[in-house]
Amino acid sequence: MPATLYIPESAIAIAAHPDDIEFSCSGTMARWAKAGSRIGYVLITSGDGGIADPSISKEDATVIREAETRRAAEITGVKDIAFLRVTDGMVEATMELRKRIVREIRRFKPEVIVCGDPTVFFPSDTYINHPDHRASATAAIDAAFPATGQPHVFQELEAEGLKAHKPRKVYITAWDDKATTFVDISETMDIKIEALRAHASQMMDWDPGEEMRKWAAETAKGKEMEYAEAFKVITLESDEDWELSKGDPVKIYEAREKRRKEKENKKD
Ligand SMILES: [Zn+2]
Repeated sequence: MPATLYIPESAIAIAAHPDDIEFSCSGTMARWAKAGSRIGYVLITSGDGGIADPSISKEDATVIREAETRRAAEITGVKDIAFLRVTDGMVEATMELRKRIVREIRRFKPEVIVCGDPTVFFPSDTYINHPDHRASATAAIDAAFPATGQPHVFQELEAEGLKAHKPRKVYITAWDDKATTFVDISETMDIKIEALRAHASQMMDWDPGEEMRKWAAETAKGKEMEYAEAFKVITLESDEDWELSKGDPVKIYEAREKRRKEKENKKD
């Protein structure tokens, strides 16, 4: 029996570099977008260190890669992109970065936050996970919980009209046996590849089609789907709390207080 697809009303994917989302989760983003979800991207860097041609300055590289990101997002069905423009290769999980991510979460109010896994150091014998990936994933997760959902944390953002927002779930892109959820991307595999091709400055003479299909087929192995993306999913709010709060922590607090009092009254 095919598993029913969970479709959040909204999701925001947070990544270090312009093409990270396409490599890790854009098949899922495309599937959700097709089903009507509002999807946003937060790019911590604009990949300004990612073009080795000495005749292209970092500033030019930023312009090129942001344009490629917009094109990739458009292909995927994503309109909302925030570029934080931290220098490529220099990402640190600072309190300032946490706050900047919280600002985007409180602005976008996503049901789901999608980000990387900060614990992945050595995913294979031929690759060390990029320090920007690890730092960005740490900052994203620390923003997702508990900071963004706490009214008294980064309270100064209220002056910008941004109130605390608790996401319902965090989807952590999984490289290994930590995966708990597999999203069938068979229908959006072509979109994922097309979006990755939009990052032309990174593809050079490599066409990602064949390899991406191979990886996604490996992820789908034994799962009754042709292609898949894998996630570890953390559910932060119960279905009941999410339905009545839609992420407003004050409403969650009030509902829990009410339940507590009802329990107390029963005891008397
Ligand atoms: Zn990257």
